[in-house]
Amino acid sequence: MQCFAWLFLHSKMIERKCLSCGTWNNDEDYCKNCNNPIKPSLIRDIAYQSQIDAEKNKPKSKFDLFVLATKNHHYLLVRIIYKIVYSISMVFAAIGAFFAWMLAMVNG
Ligand SMILES: [Zn+2]
Repeated sequence: MQCFAWLFLHSKMIERKCLSCGTWNNDEDYCKNCNNPIKPSLIRDIAYQSQIDAEKNKPKSKFDLFVLATKNHHYLLVRIIYKIVYSISMVFAAIGAFFAWMLAMVNG
């Protein structure tokens, strides 16, 4: 009886429901019905991998391309302008952060 209870508990613990089709599978890595991964660690790995792939395949925006082209431009002047614009944008970001902080202080 004890043994049966343990088996029942054990079989419950290793049953996995497929997230794609809802089929209950036993201790398997892939769904027997639709072949999707159902092992939690496997699902995590695949999700992580697809996230990396999406990041890698993400098309660069026009602004990104412009910044990249300016940054590595073969004219020194363009690179200097990039540095100046970059510095100014940093200063503005700092000023913006300062004003946000000021507003927070006033309202708080
Ligand atoms: Zn399935």
